[in-house]
Formats: sequence, C-alpha cells, structure tokens
Amino acid sequence: MPLNKDAASAGKVMTTMAPYPVVPVPDDWSRPYWEGAKEQKLMIQRCQSCGHYNHPPQFICLGCKERDTTLEFEPVSGKGTVYAWFIHHDTQVGGFEDRAPYLVAAIELEEQPRLLLTTNLLNIAFDEVELGMPVEVVWEKANDDITVPQFQPSPS
Ligand SMILES: [Zn+2]
Repeated sequence: MPLNKDAASAGKVMTTMAPYPVVPVPDDWSRPYWEGAKEQKLMIQRCQSCGHYNHPPQFICLGCKERDTTLEFEPVSGKGTVYAWFIHHDTQVGGFEDRAPYLVAAIELEEQPRLLLTTNLLNIAFDEVELGMPVEVVWEKANDDITVPQFQPSPS
C-alpha cells in the first residue's frame, strides 16, 4: 500500500534537481567530500583508530571519542537503504520554490548502521518510496566545480 496518498504528488517522479540555483560552498571540513564528488566518488570521513565513519565530518571521532586519532576521507560504496523520507512541500527554500513538491531522504549507507546522508530521491514515484528500500548514488553536475550526490532505487 502506498505510504503517501497526497493527491498533489502521487505518481510524481523527479528525474533531476538540476539546474541547481543554489550550490554548496566547500569549506576546510567538507572539501574532501566535494572533491570526491566531483570525481563521482562518495568520500566519508573515517577514524583511522577505530574505523568509525563520521558524517557530516567531525572534529573528533564520534565512535571512539579519541582526540588524538587521524580522521581521513575514504571512498564508500554509494549503496544504502532509505532510513527516513518525506515529501517536501515548502516553497520557502530559496532557489527551489518551483521544484516543490520533491523527495528528501536520509539514506543509511551500507558501511555502518546509522551512517546517514541527507539527499533527494530521484527516479522513483513519490508513492512508491518505502522505508528500507535499497538505493544507490547517482551524480548530478551542478556546475564545473560542484557535483551533487543524489540517490535513486537500486536496480533489482
Ligand atoms: Zn574512532
């Protein structure tokens, strides 16, 4: 049974969020993530002491809380499952007013429980999204510097 019975968005499919009127601005903490994305690699910060992934990047490892560890970005598979999702109807988000409604989801990456990444869900009807469904990263070039990781259903 479809989870969403919203008549305004039932059956709607977003195939892209492009063109991107607003793009991320990398800072020292997120730069490795965005540099990886530009090469279509999903890079997540990982503790070199305990192996815990931290996302978004942290000052100290959230796994072991060790202050002296090294935190490095490592590539992950880009596969995961839908942990939470909603249909975004708010037209107050600057630059995306004309996109609403669209899907926003927290993806639990397969590398670690509760390793969550917030994204849009593309290429699926709004009323076909299910919690726990397998998804994979799909890359959207926003401009020459920024490529955005989005997610779509994994082929079955
Ligand atoms: Zn750690």
